Amino acid sequence: MKAQVLNKYDLDLTAKSWVDYQTVPDPKIVKGSDVIVRIGAAGVCRTDLHVIEGIWRPHMDPTGDALLPMILGHENAGWIEEIGSEVEGLKIGDPVIVHPKISNGTCLACRRGQDMHGDGPFPGLDADGGYAEMLVTSMRNIVLLPKTLAPKDVAPYSDAGLTAYRAAKKATRHLLPGEYVVVIGAGGLGHIGIQVLRAMCAAEIIAVDTSDVSLQLAGECGADHLVKADGGEVEAILSITNGAGAEAVLDFVGEKGTTRKGLEMTRVAGSYYVIGYGEDIVVPTVDLVITEKNIIGNLVGTWAELTELMELAHRGLVDLTIEEFSLRDANKALQKLHHGLIRGRAVLIP
Ligand code: ZN
Repeated sequence: MKAQVLNKYDLDLTAKSWVDYQTVPDPKIVKGSDVIVRIGAAGVCRTDLHVIEGIWRPHMDPTGDALLPMILGHENAGWIEEIGSEVEGLKIGDPVIVHPKISNGTCLACRRGQDMHGDGPFPGLDADGGYAEMLVTSMRNIVLLPKTLAPKDVAPYSDAGLTAYRAAKKATRHLLPGEYVVVIGAGGLGHIGIQVLRAMCAAEIIAVDTSDVSLQLAGECGADHLVKADGGEVEAILSITNGAGAEAVLDFVGEKGTTRKGLEMTRVAGSYYVIGYGEDIVVPTVDLVITEKNIIGNLVGTWAELTELMELAHRGLVDLTIEEFSLRDANKALQKLHHGLIRGRAVLIP
């Protein structure tokens, strides 16, 4: 099959092309629980750029470059191509979306339903992913798609969408009418988070972004207030919230100073959710004691949450803004993402 393969890291992301369009062996069923998916679309994610620049290497490839060559792509959807002997309830040709973390089903995390904390590989980060014509995964990772949804319209939900959903859902468990929620970063993940908040709670939504394009998208997705991040965004949030700050702040950026500002936008006893990543959070412990602010981490989401998100998409309550590229043009898509030129999310179509 054809695939886009990462053959070497590029630590400063200055190369003209990062992945190579190659012919590689077709994936094979090894375990009875294995499933091969014919890829309909693979999402292009900032995490792919982080893999290329080696941010994940200490975690996934500690000996240097033993992991490479590797096929990128952790946001995958398509159709069932082949199933192992133990697989039930799936048939060839079924349209599916793939939960990104392979869950074996037997470890404690899996048994508690916390698929993303399980022991298995994460294709596209430490095993071959879906920038390819086919992908091998486990039957536990498969979510069947409703007839209303095509693989190319949903692939980015499997990681980006799921991450935004999990964080926004946590916030909706405690957000009440009359309260405020801030979304920092209204791009690829943020525009999904805003729609989830709109669908699942009645708090007023404030979007904060440096980009007018992203703010416009935030408005179309249902944000009640749009705040340009021009240096005065903390004051703007305090003004909108009558001086108190927001009950919940969802930070989809997590770098360039948003963590300090995000905590300043959070009201006393409110919650600050970390979704984007890159910088350190520096906060005096006494401040946390006095204000009782909560800082909450978020990692992808569970298989069950992916089915919940597909239900929102099926009902038209969440919609992805997508830019399509052919698999052959993976470098073009990655370069556009690197330079902030993708509106919503990019997908690769084999
Ligand atoms: Zn991703």
